[in-house]
Amino acid sequence: MGDEFHSVKTLSLKKCSGMKSLSIKNYNLKDIELQNCATLKSVCINSPNLELFLYRGRDLRPCEIEFGICKKLESVILIGVKINNMMFSDCNKTFPLIKLLTLSCFDERCINISSNSLDILALCKFKACVDINVDAPNLTWFGYNGSTLPSLNMKFPLLDEVRIELHANRYKKRGATWYSRLIKILESLKHAKKLVFYTNSEKNIIIPNEFRDTFVPPFVEMDTIAVRTFYKTRNFVDLFDGMLWICPRVKNLVLRSNYWVSLELVHEELTGDSSCSLCTAHPFRCWRHSVKRFDLNDEKEESKKKTMSYLMENLKMVERDALEFVALE
Ligand SMILES: [Zn+2]
Repeated sequence: MGDEFHSVKTLSLKKCSGMKSLSIKNYNLKDIELQNCATLKSVCINSPNLELFLYRGRDLRPCEIEFGICKKLESVILIGVKINNMMFSDCNKTFPLIKLLTLSCFDERCINISSNSLDILALCKFKACVDINVDAPNLTWFGYNGSTLPSLNMKFPLLDEVRIELHANRYKKRGATWYSRLIKILESLKHAKKLVFYTNSEKNIIIPNEFRDTFVPPFVEMDTIAVRTFYKTRNFVDLFDGMLWICPRVKNLVLRSNYWVSLELVHEELTGDSSCSLCTAHPFRCWRHSVKRFDLNDEKEESKKKTMSYLMENLKMVERDALEFVALE
């Protein structure tokens, strides 16, 4: 497809079957969207003014995409594409204006992304464990979605929000490797203001008690942790406990399954602490020592009672006067 249509700014092909390869050379196109063109095997783009490129295909038949000179690209969404490990390894040269990148379906065992302009990065549908190296100092939003956990090597100092979606097979064994990898990922996201988990099982995200002495909680502080689970629940005690371990100074916890609850916590400066069997192994004290007051929002009476008694019992365990909290409830 050459440069015959001078005034056309957008090219959108949906469910066009029969094409095996597509080569686009055009100086004016700003948006290209190719969706569900099932027979496409390769696409070559040379459009120096292109700002948005979206390809959505089937993961089972990934398409090869070759970018020529596309230095104005701001948004790239590739779903069902054979990702080349080097495709985004030097975006400052190849795509100096890129702001949004969504990638899914990897054949490679490793992916490298480097960009100073990237603002939003979403990595989706990971089934195999991939090494991900990201150097994107200005990223404000990061999302990961998969049935396994990657080995993540990155630092995002300006991150606002992180969204981690885990849909592991329910028979999958989650042992020390799973949890140490989870903690390593969370550690690299520790500058985020908000963490959102989506999960099909709380086992994916709650560090079991047997590992809590050997691992260090990945976050000290965070504004908000939200968890959305895809199963029915009667109470959220285990999730509260798990999230308070992951981040002892979290200010807001919002949990949602068939109903939702929230817990707002106010912490105070810690005074010298005695030996707490729950956190002596860690460099900072657990939430039980710092929480000054809390506000639990739960419309279900039974579930609210369970969370309240969990909180009270835990405060008593470190000899906090639970009565002062009752008065504030
Ligand atoms: Zn403690």
